[in-house]
Amino acid sequence: MNANLVTPVIDNFSDAKVNGLINDSGDWDHEVLQDLFLPADIDRILATPISPHIKDTWYWKGDSRGIYSVRHGYHMLTNSYLTVDPHLQFTEWQRLWVLPILPKVKNFLWRCMRNVLPVREILKTKHVWASGGCPFCTYDRETMEHHFCLCPMVNQVWNGSIILNNESLALMLNRVLCGPSLGEAACMWAIWNARNNLIWKEVTFSSIGLKQQVASYCELWNLNYSKVANTTNVVQITSVWVPPQVNVDAAIFSDGVGYGAIIRDHTGRFVSSQCPD
Ligand SMILES: [Zn+2]
Repeated sequence: MNANLVTPVIDNFSDAKVNGLINDSGDWDHEVLQDLFLPADIDRILATPISPHIKDTWYWKGDSRGIYSVRHGYHMLTNSYLTVDPHLQFTEWQRLWVLPILPKVKNFLWRCMRNVLPVREILKTKHVWASGGCPFCTYDRETMEHHFCLCPMVNQVWNGSIILNNESLALMLNRVLCGPSLGEAACMWAIWNARNNLIWKEVTFSSIGLKQQVASYCELWNLNYSKVANTTNVVQITSVWVPPQVNVDAAIFSDGVGYGAIIRDHTGRFVSSQCPD
C-alpha cells in the first residue's frame, strides 16, 4: 500500500502541521479533514490512532521500528522509490558506480537519474522560480531529455547518433551503460558544464570545442581511473634518457578560452593533468 497521501498539496498549507487537524478534545477534526483531503485519504487519516500525550518525534518510514540507516535510505532511493515514478526507471546503479570517472561526475549522473538536477523544468516542480527555457536554443522548456539529447545545439556532440528513442534519459542511460559508456558520461558532463558556464559566466561554446572537451575528459579518466592504468607497475629501465611528454590542446571562444594539458613521464605513463571543469 502506498504510504503517501494522494491529495495534492495546497501551496498555502505546505508548512501546516498535523495538530491543525486535531480538535480541542484530542480527536481528528472531521470537518477540517473533509475540507482539505480526498475521501480515500480521510479514511486512512481517521484510521491513524492519536496519542496526544506522547511527545512528537521523527520516524523513518523505511523501517518498521522507525530507525533510519544508510542501507535503508539507499535501497529506498534506488529501488522502491524509483518504481513510484515512471520517469525514474534507472536500474544500472552497479555499473554506474564502477565507471572510471571522477567521483563528482558520478554524483552528477546520480542526480540525473534521481531527477534532481536543477534544470528549469525540475526546479518548477519544486516551486522554485526559474524563468526561461533551454539556454542553448529557443525551446521553451528545459527538460533533462531536451538539454542532454534533443537540443539541436548539443545533438552534434553525440556524433549525430539518435541516442534518445522516445524514452526517458534514465532509460537511455540504462541502455548505454550495458556497454562501454565512458563517452556518454563525458558527453553529459561536458554539456552540463557548458550549460552552467553559459548561464552563470556567459561563456559561449561551439560544438567542436565541446567535442574536444569530451575527448579530453575520456583521456583523462582513462589515464586516472582505469584499472589497467592504475595497476601497471612495470617500469622499463633504460640507459637512454627520454624526455617527458606534454600534450596540450586549447580552444578559443567568443569571450574565453578552454584548455587541457596532460604530462607523461619517459615511459609514457600519466604524471599530471590540468583542464577547466
Ligand atoms: Zn535547446
